[in-house]
Amino acid sequence: MVQNFFRETWAEIDLDAIGYNIEQMQQSLPDKSNIIAVVKANAYGHGAVQIAKKALQCGAKALAVALMEEATELRDAGIAAPILVFGRVSPKAALLAAENDITVTTFQKEWIQEVSNYTFSKKLKVNIEIDTGMARVGLRREEELIQLLETIRENPNIQLTGVYTHFATADEENLNYFHEQQERFERLLNIFNRLWKRPVSIHIGNSAASIRFPNKMYHYIRYGIAMYGMYPSKTVKQEKSISLKQAFSLRSQLIHVKQIEAGESISYGATYKAKRNEWIGTIPIGYGDGWIRKLQGAEVLVGGKRMPIVGRVCMDQTMILLDKKYPIGTPVTLIGEQNGASIKMDEIADYLGTINYEIPCMINQRVPRVYI
Ligand code: PLP
Repeated sequence: MVQNFFRETWAEIDLDAIGYNIEQMQQSLPDKSNIIAVVKANAYGHGAVQIAKKALQCGAKALAVALMEEATELRDAGIAAPILVFGRVSPKAALLAAENDITVTTFQKEWIQEVSNYTFSKKLKVNIEIDTGMARVGLRREEELIQLLETIRENPNIQLTGVYTHFATADEENLNYFHEQQERFERLLNIFNRLWKRPVSIHIGNSAASIRFPNKMYHYIRYGIAMYGMYPSKTVKQEKSISLKQAFSLRSQLIHVKQIEAGESISYGATYKAKRNEWIGTIPIGYGDGWIRKLQGAEVLVGGKRMPIVGRVCMDQTMILLDKKYPIGTPVTLIGEQNGASIKMDEIADYLGTINYEIPCMINQRVPRVYI
């Protein structure tokens, strides 16, 4: 492996784990359903281009992102697969989308009218998002759908290729609201099918819905969190219906080790005071990397053993309490496995009172990604 960085902290991304997680999902999906790999937000912090390429190699048929910028990054990297942008794209970006064969989401007839003023050299592909209860973007009512379809029909440069919705509670134990969303979607889809005779792709499932109801997912699933080896929620994890491997590990090493005496303190604010003579290690990661100050007190792995973070996390460095003296360069794992022990993304998320999705997104670009 050629390393083009010098720092002693990096994120290790296991591409085989991505392949494994895709394969696990493929095994339960019926043949008619394919996978759209969701690689928005730099592939949930894992690296969009590398994950997109791996997912496509492993059988994903398309990619999805949130922003036009994320879509063009993939095209610039030479990726030719279909790409869907979930977010509302500025009408000004419609020509760029058409030029680059990027499919955009639409749900407002005014948007179609505005882009109709442009002269397209290639058709602009669009998917309609129906808001069945997420209340984020999407059209909600029958009249909106009818009007949008009329507007699309009037513009020969626009090619409608898909219709979709997004679930708000597919990962929860109580599925009443999920079923309500499904029903609302089916009702509007029936209207759509009456009005629009040309074939389009239908997709509704995120990881949770696809893992739990693989046979109800129409043509595509939009596979995000589970592709990265994380369960969408504790409920889905407990159901044990899929085996997943976490792809993201966060590695560092001891860059300084010293003994401090009882009563001496550590880091800004001198909030931690040694109770006895203690071995303290320093690792080169801090809140400037997204390893936030609230992680004071969380544990990391050294020699396969858990050691707590002591004192405040600094911008570039973090101190840990060691059980003995270790040599400089000793590996430290902040997330992932080490000598049979493991710190899962879920543990960090629980410690911070958030969801696992947020953790790899939070580790920023200052931390190089290494692919194994
Ligand atoms: N579809 C849409 C529209 C999304 O916004 C997302 C992510 O938030 C996904 C699919 C993927 O969801 P998940 O990561 O839960 O699989």
